[in-house]
Amino acid sequence: MAVSSQAVLGRFFKLALIVTGIGAIHILTLFMSWYTVVSDTITTTTIQGYAIAESLYMSIAGGIVCGIALILSSTSSNIITAKWLVGATALVGALLAITSPAYTHFIVIPALQAKGYLEIGIFMSYFSAIAMFVPAATIIATPIRVEVAPHVGPPYLGTSAPIVEEAVELTHVIDIPPGAICGICYQELDPETTMMCSNCQTMFHKGCIDIWVNLNGTCPSCKKPVVR
Ligand SMILES: [Zn+2]
Ligand SMILES: [Zn+2]
Repeated sequence: MAVSSQAVLGRFFKLALIVTGIGAIHILTLFMSWYTVVSDTITTTTIQGYAIAESLYMSIAGGIVCGIALILSSTSSNIITAKWLVGATALVGALLAITSPAYTHFIVIPALQAKGYLEIGIFMSYFSAIAMFVPAATIIATPIRVEVAPHVGPPYLGTSAPIVEEAVELTHVIDIPPGAICGICYQELDPETTMMCSNCQTMFHKGCIDIWVNLNGTCPSCKKPVVR
């Protein structure tokens, strides 16, 4: 199924929006309890995510980078650039996000050398960071096939099935009458790229007629089959 580049860009924007949304939730988990230190049987201290500066910065940076991915997705017009730019940026955001709870978990907590237990907040932080990878990876995994949309303009809409008869050829023409236009797109012709039907003498841009012949196999004007 052919999808227009506009639809693909819309999809990237939606995915970038999802990453940014999860990134915002990820930042909110900083306000949850991440770890409880048990000093003795009655004294406990609960640490929130934002209390660990490195995690605070990494989570916020992750969210901001995802926001940048969202901005990039809304300003890109080329789908291939958008795919790699938005996808890679979102992935960097997700990586920053996951480093935040991992840093606290594997570096800050062991350094405390105190008994304690992990709280729901650090799991939520991990979970939201992992969730950010899904839309980010989806952007990168989106296959892009460069397809040229057929240039169909009136009055050739709904061409009938090609009639089998003697084939015509397309020849390159240099002598173009002033003001001559392409039989497909109605734009002015130029000597570099003009082709003419050997039967009906209608002239076309090479790009226009190539697409047309690939799709229909006939001259759009006289409807005779074209040999390539
Ligand atoms: Zn044309
Ligand atoms: Zn023709």
